[in-house]
Amino acid sequence: MRIILIGPPGAGKGTQCQRLIEYLRVPHLSTGEMLRAAVRAGTPEGIEAEKYMGQGQLVPDPIIVEMVTKRLEYRDCRGGCLLDGFPRTLPQAEILDDLLERHAMSVDGVIELAVPHDELIHRMMARKRADDDPTIFSKRIASFELQTAPLLEYYQSQKKLATIDGLGDAESIFKRVLEAVQRFKNVVNLKGSKRNGSRRPSPPL
Ligand code: AMP
Repeated sequence: MRIILIGPPGAGKGTQCQRLIEYLRVPHLSTGEMLRAAVRAGTPEGIEAEKYMGQGQLVPDPIIVEMVTKRLEYRDCRGGCLLDGFPRTLPQAEILDDLLERHAMSVDGVIELAVPHDELIHRMMARKRADDDPTIFSKRIASFELQTAPLLEYYQSQKKLATIDGLGDAESIFKRVLEAVQRFKNVVNLKGSKRNGSRRPSPPL
């Protein structure tokens, strides 16, 4: 399955992704992690990306798209993957759809982890990442609301969105995540059976 997990900074995507990749046994494609690795390695993309990441801004689409395109072509992604932090803009979502379509694939479902603004600030106080400086963190939330939230509508219109409550302990949230995954599986199976059905030879006239 190809699933996207969307949520504002501090929503707990990392924890849920970790559990979900173990459950689905698919690779975890986190663009934030890929970028942090590129920054650590000092690659030209990493050096460029750091300028934006340090400001709580989104890294330009071309850098991200090239990174994800290459990663999606790895053999281990053939059976599916969990996308975390990508797509984050409408153009990225459209590029992803085109990319998958060229390989006769598609996004099976999108899970939104919904967490209220005040709770995000509260959680941020308990974390220690460099880009969790309060000013930068607020910018990241603003960027989510401005650039990433429109994606929800995009996936809603494709009937692929499952919004789940991101409050509570990790275990309860994961139960909700699995319920969403089950719904996606049912839709995928239904589509598959309809497709198979249409391949049956027509009855003689
Ligand atoms: P994350 O770990 O997903 O919160 O990402 C950390 C930072 O990496 C973000 O604040 C952005 O600066 C950058 N980033 C990650 N994914 C993307 C993306 N899909 N598009 C643009 N910038 C991204």
